Amino acid sequence: MTMDMTFLGTGSAYPSPHRGASALVLRSEGDCWLFDCGEGTQTQLMKSQLRASRITKVFISHLHGDHLFGLPGLLCTVSLNTNPEQQNLNCVDIYGPRGLRHFLRVTLGLTGSQLLFPYAVHELEPTAEQSPEEGQLSLEMTAESGPLHPQEQPGRTISLDVSTDSYFLFEDKKFVVKAFRLFHRIPSFGFCIQEHGRPGRLKTELLKELGVKPGPHYGCLKAGEAVTMENGRVILPQEVLEGDIPGRKVCIFGDCSSVLGDGALMLCKGADILVHEATLGDEHREKAVDHGHSTPGMAAAVARACCVQRLVLYHFSQRYKPCSLQKEGDEDEVSELKRQAEDALQDTGVVVTLAEDFLTIPIPVRRPSTTN
Ligand SMILES: [Zn+2]
Ligand SMILES: [Zn+2]
Repeated sequence: MTMDMTFLGTGSAYPSPHRGASALVLRSEGDCWLFDCGEGTQTQLMKSQLRASRITKVFISHLHGDHLFGLPGLLCTVSLNTNPEQQNLNCVDIYGPRGLRHFLRVTLGLTGSQLLFPYAVHELEPTAEQSPEEGQLSLEMTAESGPLHPQEQPGRTISLDVSTDSYFLFEDKKFVVKAFRLFHRIPSFGFCIQEHGRPGRLKTELLKELGVKPGPHYGCLKAGEAVTMENGRVILPQEVLEGDIPGRKVCIFGDCSSVLGDGALMLCKGADILVHEATLGDEHREKAVDHGHSTPGMAAAVARACCVQRLVLYHFSQRYKPCSLQKEGDEDEVSELKRQAEDALQDTGVVVTLAEDFLTIPIPVRRPSTTN
């Protein structure tokens, strides 16, 4: 199963001609999941190889505008491009902090926006430690008043599972998705997408030698069931299957100056890819932390603690031009941010990548485990 990740916006605070506001798409076999949706995400999508109509789920890390202002507009445009004759359109599931349901209901409601497809907002209940007092969401601000939007379906309210310090979002045939707490100026979350492991490939040469013909027996063995041959010989799946293929793990952090509790570190252990913000360089660490943000060195410390394979940095201050526009003598070089993270990880083998708008990173299938 092919899987990749495309960055649609890698800038912080606002979209600029050279860096869009935060948005990235995780794609697996054509299905697209959108993580954050800053202003202008829909035009970034149009410039990319991706199709907005393939977005089935949306995840919003926190309610700051540079991660959210693009969502009502994107939903309306997807609706405009939907065939009104189409029956039984799937519900778009939207996950994000408490207040998101109210935000969408008000923006879609006041603007008289009707959608051709249903949507549901599943809200994560933040805890008080996730932001300074002034950043906490007052109940009046997030209270749900009035009826649901005509296309809105009731969503779940998801509370912290204290025993695992995480939020269980959902599980389907391919993935289990959880969220974890981050500290920011307002409550922020990270998401962990864990693919299920799969049984390894059948050893077809061996099966041929054993006299098993392709057909139902293959299916049984692949499903982990033993098969009895006509001559009475029992063939066990572990004899003829290669090692299990472990599932891939992708972790996407929202804005933060630190993680909160053990959730992030436990969930992100051994991730194939960890996407972390690096708004400012290490020399501006104090300012970054004051604003609830991280530097490359801080992102590297998280990557190290989680023993990940690859760290991808994004959410750069607009002062950092993309590498392609960097000129000799520029004071703020984005390549310096990469160097800072690499320096901090030089003894680990963690690969550091700078995200740029429209960069696509393939996420290859893991190698089968050697034991079975
Ligand atoms: Zn931001
Ligand atoms: Zn923010």
